[in-house]
Amino acid sequence: ALARVAVVGFPNVGKSTLVNRLAGVREAVVDAQPGVTRDRKELPAEWRGRRFLLVDTGGVDERDEGEIQRQVRAQVARALEQADLVLLVCDARAGLRPGDVEAARAVSRSGRPALVVANKVDDPRQLGLAQEFWALGLGEPLAVSAAHGLGTGDLLDQVVELL
Ligand code: GDP
Ligand code: MG
Repeated sequence: ALARVAVVGFPNVGKSTLVNRLAGVREAVVDAQPGVTRDRKELPAEWRGRRFLLVDTGGVDERDEGEIQRQVRAQVARALEQADLVLLVCDARAGLRPGDVEAARAVSRSGRPALVVANKVDDPRQLGLAQEFWALGLGEPLAVSAAHGLGTGDLLDQVVELL
């Protein structure tokens, strides 16, 4: 079976955009509405001859904050159970938020190998934005722009190294 790389994090941090980018899908199917994504949940990817499965989570379509949190938790828990590696995605522009901390705790509890991805660093001059995600305690945060592709090659190098 292909190794499974679960992509988790709170709504609107760019999980689906990242999954599509890493899988080499040309057109990301991303809804303009925060937290709503209509797309495939699992996409095959390949990097340096290594094939694996990217598992998107989310598509939480709820206006109620408590309900969003409950659904995110359930989805993250399910994804973590089956993951060989976890990408915890955060929004570097928004900065460190309680939802990131909560997701990081779930990732830590799972005991799975994990990488912290500080997304939405669209400009190399903003690389420093990733630094505060060290606080999640999951190692060095990797700055990427899922939208523009910045940093995604380095991220994929790390992914296949850990698989
Ligand atoms: P998800 O809810 O975590 O799956 O997030 P989405 O992938 O649906 O993206 C949420 C919003 O963030 C969309 O409007 C995306 O276009 C935007 N977004 C995703 N990645 C980036 C990025 O690297 N830079 C910027 N500026 N916006 C992004
Ligand atoms: Mg999504």
